[in-house]
Amino acid sequence: MTFLATDPLAASAGPTGAAMGTASTSQETRAGSQGQKATAAAASGPSPEQWDAAVALVEQAVAVGTTIGLLAHVNPDGDALGSALALGLALQSRGARVVVSFEAVPFGVPANLRFLPGQHMIVAPEQFPDDVPLVITFDTGSLDRLGVLAPATAGAQAVLVIDHHRSNTGFGTDVLLDVTAASTTEVVAALVDKLGVPLSEELATALYVGLVTDTGSFRYSATSPESHELAARLLRAGVRHAEVNLLVWDTRPLGYLPLLAAALGRVKLWGDVVWTWVSVDDLEAAGVGLEEAESIIDVVRTAEQSQVAVVLKQDVDGSWRVSTRSRGKVDVGAACGLLGGGGHQLAAGFTSWDDAATTLEKFRAAVARTAPLTS
Ligand code: AMP
Ligand code: MN
Ligand code: MN
Repeated sequence: MTFLATDPLAASAGPTGAAMGTASTSQETRAGSQGQKATAAAASGPSPEQWDAAVALVEQAVAVGTTIGLLAHVNPDGDALGSALALGLALQSRGARVVVSFEAVPFGVPANLRFLPGQHMIVAPEQFPDDVPLVITFDTGSLDRLGVLAPATAGAQAVLVIDHHRSNTGFGTDVLLDVTAASTTEVVAALVDKLGVPLSEELATALYVGLVTDTGSFRYSATSPESHELAARLLRAGVRHAEVNLLVWDTRPLGYLPLLAAALGRVKLWGDVVWTWVSVDDLEAAGVGLEEAESIIDVVRTAEQSQVAVVLKQDVDGSWRVSTRSRGKVDVGAACGLLGGGGHQLAAGFTSWDDAATTLEKFRAAVARTAPLTS
């Protein structure tokens, strides 16, 4: 793989011209010939060949001086944004040109992640340059999860997908998928190591945020000894964990409290599904954005009479963003997959254009068609 010198942002004085100007193979050819589809990697993380190919791809982009575009999924969480910013910081420390983007309406970093280091790399989707030669996606299980940035992958010479979702469709030319990783930042940390970049406090903080958010502070089942080992390394690298966790978990605008009260005040149990909703009107009344509704599921899912928790969050376009969580017996990832969404076995989501009651009915029907989890 070599990058063409078509990068609109690449300065004429790239570190080396040696690799430039050579015709690149197409995305399709690469994915087909190297057999790097996600399905092949799903059992036990990336193969040595996949690691080698990914490292070579990134090293070459750094050497040629081409722009590297880093994309997080729509409405990014701590794992998606932490991963993109962490690798961005690592690549910048190697002298690379980096842009980070994602879709969010209105565009912006969620309030509780605004302390993340590396935000100078972030641009709005409209500012994301066309024809970035190398695009890397983070925590993104399928192309549609990039939202308006999905077309940005079409013009790229290579698309490296870094993820931990079992439902990953393997849409890139190169894939680093580890379904045993509790967070995408665990995969990014391994890549940073392979690139030989030392962990600065800033880089470690970005990695740590993804790790704590996706493990629910090391509580969820995907948390592994490796997750704790990485946390130990990150703390040694200088992460101020108490400060970071205060900002991630325990700092909300005052309006969050009435929003939570409204949502919890109408919680219902339907069979073994505990559920509620948050409307655009609720958000307006509370004076907060949709991002403040994200953590409500963490309270709703505590109901011991339930197997599954569901929170429907109304978007400004009228659709519902549905968050689902399982207490262990139901594969909500599979159920959401049947409804056009995806995620993990115990935490997943989908988007619905039906009314709230119909949305829940369809979800319950999808659960009924899903094989129970055994462990
Ligand atoms: P959330 O409920 O938004 O915290 O999401 C839980 C998990 O489901 C995360 O891993 C998300 O990436 C995934 N997820 C949420 N919504 C969707 C969707 N519409 N399509 C695919 N995956 C989703
Ligand atoms: Mn995510
Ligand atoms: Mn994740």
